[in-house]
Amino acid sequence: MFRGIAVSAGICRGKILVLHRARHVIARRELPDEKISLEVSRFEKSLTQTRQQISEVQRKVVESMGTKEGDIFDAHLLMLEDRMLVDEVIRVIKEQKVNAEFAFHAVAERYSTALAGVNDEYLRERADDMRDLTARVLDNLLDVQDEFDLRHLAEPCILVSHDLSPSTTAQLDKKFILGFATDIGGKTSHTAIMARSLGIPAVVGLQNISQELDSGDYALLDGYNGTIIVNPTDQTLFEYGQLEKNKASLEEKLREIQRQPAVTLDGRFIHLSANIEDQNDIEAVIKHGAEGVGLFRTEFLFINRESSPGEEDQYKVYQEVAAALKPHPVIIRTLDLGGDKFVSHLQLAQEMNPFLGWRAIRFCLAQPEMFRAQLRAVLRASAEGNVKMMYPMISGLDELNQANALVEKCKAELRAEKISFDEKMEIGAMIEIPSAVLIADALAQRVKFFSIGSNDLIQYTLAADRTNEKVSHLYEPTHPAIIRLIKMTVDAAHKNGIWAGVCGEIAGDPTLAPLLIGLGVDELSAAPPVVPQVKYIVRRLKLSEAQALAEFALQCESPSEIYTRCQTLARQTAPSLFEK
Ligand code: PEP
Ligand code: MG
Repeated sequence: MFRGIAVSAGICRGKILVLHRARHVIARRELPDEKISLEVSRFEKSLTQTRQQISEVQRKVVESMGTKEGDIFDAHLLMLEDRMLVDEVIRVIKEQKVNAEFAFHAVAERYSTALAGVNDEYLRERADDMRDLTARVLDNLLDVQDEFDLRHLAEPCILVSHDLSPSTTAQLDKKFILGFATDIGGKTSHTAIMARSLGIPAVVGLQNISQELDSGDYALLDGYNGTIIVNPTDQTLFEYGQLEKNKASLEEKLREIQRQPAVTLDGRFIHLSANIEDQNDIEAVIKHGAEGVGLFRTEFLFINRESSPGEEDQYKVYQEVAAALKPHPVIIRTLDLGGDKFVSHLQLAQEMNPFLGWRAIRFCLAQPEMFRAQLRAVLRASAEGNVKMMYPMISGLDELNQANALVEKCKAELRAEKISFDEKMEIGAMIEIPSAVLIADALAQRVKFFSIGSNDLIQYTLAADRTNEKVSHLYEPTHPAIIRLIKMTVDAAHKNGIWAGVCGEIAGDPTLAPLLIGLGVDELSAAPPVVPQVKYIVRRLKLSEAQALAEFALQCESPSEIYTRCQTLARQTAPSLFEK
């Protein structure tokens, strides 16, 4: 049995096909002076050819999967147009008088290695994009045929390879590719995202499976638990048959409640909404039955582009989302850059402690022009739907007052310009810093709602960097301190007549959602694909049981005991969600 990372749910069984990528042989050739300019044009031609191929793949992907998946190739196209990279290659060709493939390979490798070494998962995964792109350019320079030709497979199979590029993944045909498994890759790599969109079960990060297996081997791939079992016994096949049946019946049950509200057996209504990153997520929000958006992470509109989007660009996006989801609310969070979310075009200085540094509302208040463009865009969109807005990383009253004063200024401008907006647009504060919890009473008198950003609240309370695996054992959502902070926030909200939600990852975890409900949380906002599971457990839960769990958690001293109680209640309430 091989263990890796499950990235796309489902089970499949069949013959293995191991793909070994043709390795490019890159020799260094010295060129006479008169051949240099020819070599430069040969390099430029290969870029043009590559651009055409990628655009073609992108077009097909948009057609078959949608714009979000197509956007993946924007990163490739941007890299291809990166003047620094292109000029550097031309300089090497000219100065060292060498062939284009040698120069390009050397420079591109340096880029990929630098990206792979960055302490940021998003950028690290761009190293895979860079390698995908490098391979394509080299294919063109060396006149090698496309990576793998998967069009003439005789029978359906499970693909195994060291890596699969997004361009190859995009071409996989579900009829012939039962599933795939790779040596490298992570949960958020583009290949994984595409596998999920295609609905092909996939496991990545299997280390050296492409060396260990041979084409023709028979195997079972479990995309729920991230395993590959070679030559499964009849007993294993039978057990997996059962698991598949159970999963199919759960899917059916989740579909049945898609249009139903998230209400407990004893009548407590929970507002269940979705976390999104851009307008391409609208479809997923609707498909998974979320009631609007509880967290629109607007910083993703700033990533992957050469300059920041202005008021007009942002307005179009916010307006589209608000109009598509109305009458449901769309909570737009103002820009939360910094921490682990960087935008290269802003060229922010490196900091010793980025999570404690110049990020989110701190950054926006120091960049009033940029902030103003966003505030105006959000206000204008409020005329078109049920828009609300919230500020990230509020640590004290001053920040809230300053931000609110800027909003008032923008409103006055819009009035003077006779541009419509919702005068009553609600503004909330994210509660993600312990100091905000301790002054929640004062904050609650100045906003219309709270949204607890538990991802950050946990890291700041327990002083455990949310991206550092070495301290992940300390990053405990059921730490008694976290439970008490959530309770204090909810109580302060209710005392002041406003509501409190949670939009961090714990809101989408069916094991922890009952505890949050028991603590009095009014709204849960989670990634669209987990919304149906949360709704399922809410609809089978009794508020009284959730409250008993919360009472236990509030007096218990041990994070693991609290977690075990959460597990017990969740499993009793919705056993089918937890079948492995
Ligand atoms: C949070 O901190 O819980 C949150 C929702 O914000 P982000 O994950 O974007 O920092
Ligand atoms: Mg946060």
